Amino acid sequence: MTPITKLVGYPFIGISRHALQKVLLGHLEDDDVELGARLERLDTDEGEGITELRFRGQSEVVRARAVIGADGRRSIVRKKVLAAEERNCDWALTWWALADIPEPATPKGEFRMSYSTKQAIYYGEVEEGVTMWSFTCWRDGEIERDPELRAGRALKELEGWPEEVRNVVRNTPPNKIIEVYVGDSPLQWTTWSKQPGVSLMGDAAHSMLPTLAMGVTTALQDAAALTKCIDNADTPLMEALKEYENARRVPSATLQLISRVAMVFIENVLCG
Ligand SMILES: Cc1cc2nc3c(=O)[nH]c(=O)nc-3n(C[C@H](O)[C@H](O)[C@H](O)COP(=O)(O)OP(=O)(O)OC[C@H]3O[C@@H](n4cnc5c(N)ncnc54)[C@H](O)[C@@H]3O)c2cc1C
Repeated sequence: MTPITKLVGYPFIGISRHALQKVLLGHLEDDDVELGARLERLDTDEGEGITELRFRGQSEVVRARAVIGADGRRSIVRKKVLAAEERNCDWALTWWALADIPEPATPKGEFRMSYSTKQAIYYGEVEEGVTMWSFTCWRDGEIERDPELRAGRALKELEGWPEEVRNVVRNTPPNKIIEVYVGDSPLQWTTWSKQPGVSLMGDAAHSMLPTLAMGVTTALQDAAALTKCIDNADTPLMEALKEYENARRVPSATLQLISRVAMVFIENVLCG
């Protein structure tokens, strides 16, 4: 059993976005998903109980009784129905990569987590021949655009770490290393939408720091809860949406909070 499995009580499974999307799409009909459609505007007519959606480059207006905004951390649905003035908080800098890294061999199907001075890094194989690694720390300043300098910066952050961990980064082609600011959205304990018939899901509802690596799991739990609520034919649709939000708001806001606390804990207690 790996340390992380011991810590959380279940295995930490690595899967790439590409592979996960393939699995999810495999469960849908061909015309359930329209790729490339970019939502630009939505307007709700509360009297009629209809929301109109307008997509870039399309003259047709889609009219819906219920809309779930699952459009990620910079959700325009959230801006419209919850908090037009809200600002995302970019707290920390993450370095991550997806690459063929032959050495050191990483655990298949399970992630490995390592703590050292000020950060925690996790790494593992997410697809045959593709390893993912990522670590996050409180930093500010400019994003480094030059791949070689970026790789150097990542390695400098890992000074004093076990050689195995440094080798994961050292053996990654520099152009595969990504440096990006990450953060979370303000916690919403009481509502996800001020407009009836519109709700949110996943990062649009509750983006969190990647400290616990729980963003995808939480989004999938939202999807499962929504399915359960709207599958009940006895519950009117608007009530089902409320039930869904009530079931998911507090657990997901709690995880957002724990992810923030975990970030401080890892830096100052575990690694301090
Ligand atoms: C560096 C980093 C590392 C992470 N590591 C992990 C990890 O190890 N484990 C984990 O569980 N989570 C991790 N996360 C978090 C995880 O990526 C997110 O929680 C997860 O992707 C949320 O899924 P989502 O579907 O809600 O949003 P997204 O994955 O952001 O998907 C939103 C979708 O909406 C589309 N979209 C956006 N705007 C529009 C629009 N106007 N019209 C139409 N479509 C639109 C986007 O193109 C995208 O396809 C990490 C995040 C970061 C930044």
